[in-house]
Amino acid sequence: MKIWLDGGLKDIESARVSVLDHGLTVGDGIFETVKAVAGRPFALTRHLDRLTRSARGLGLPDPDLDEVRRACAAVLAADPVPLGRLRITYTGGHGPLGSDRGEHGPTLVVALGETARRPDSTAVITVPWTRNERGALAGLKTTSYAENVVALARAREQGASEALFANTVGQLCEGTGSNVFVVLDGEIHTPPVASGCLAGITRALAVEWSGARESDLPLDVLDRADEVFLTSTLRDVQAVHRVDGRELPGAPGPVTAKAMRVFEERSGDDLDP
Ligand code: PLP
Repeated sequence: MKIWLDGGLKDIESARVSVLDHGLTVGDGIFETVKAVAGRPFALTRHLDRLTRSARGLGLPDPDLDEVRRACAAVLAADPVPLGRLRITYTGGHGPLGSDRGEHGPTLVVALGETARRPDSTAVITVPWTRNERGALAGLKTTSYAENVVALARAREQGASEALFANTVGQLCEGTGSNVFVVLDGEIHTPPVASGCLAGITRALAVEWSGARESDLPLDVLDRADEVFLTSTLRDVQAVHRVDGRELPGAPGPVTAKAMRVFEERSGDDLDP
């Protein structure tokens, strides 16, 4: 398998990043996961816009988007897979031990992995830890994912594929790697970006295409929602059939099923040639 590093394609075995790269030592990095269907990236421009926003949020230099596009095209051409995920990682680069930025430029890595189509529905749990909607990293797609790793491990222990967080004021926020939607009296609601969630690209498309409303929602809305669904690059729109101990029989319900259908029909329009 080939990956992009230091301006060119490399064999994965020979690609080397410094052990003092700050992406490794202090999590000073950002990333994007981009779906690729038959070698064509989905919604790449939106992902690159968010990559730039995340870089600015961390005070990293703007990524060279021409290079990122070339890198994506090159790794996709090198390893054709029917359904894949491009992983774009961009870090502060290597420098001295400690949290100050090093004098070396940023590191850009683009890799490709194969993915499987996700099941139509899944179980989720809620976790007692909170997203900090006022933190410096709120809304940025950084590589500081350890809290998500811990929450996801707890979800797996309970037979679920996702863990949902509230924010510091008890509002429903997001999952470890997905945004969350609830259906109440036939209307679709999702937490606003001000709740501290990532401005998910699938979320934005689902809001646009399914007419969802952005609403502040208490966490316990999950006890009474008629339907719940998740969105993310790797899940698209995915129904939830269990939240903690609460079963949601028949998931996907009618509203979620429609959102899934609309997403599937329209998402083909945003594939890069
Ligand atoms: N929230 C978090 C914390 C994420 O990591 C992700 C994606 O990885 C999402 C939401 C969903 O975003 P997107 O639809 O852009 O994949």
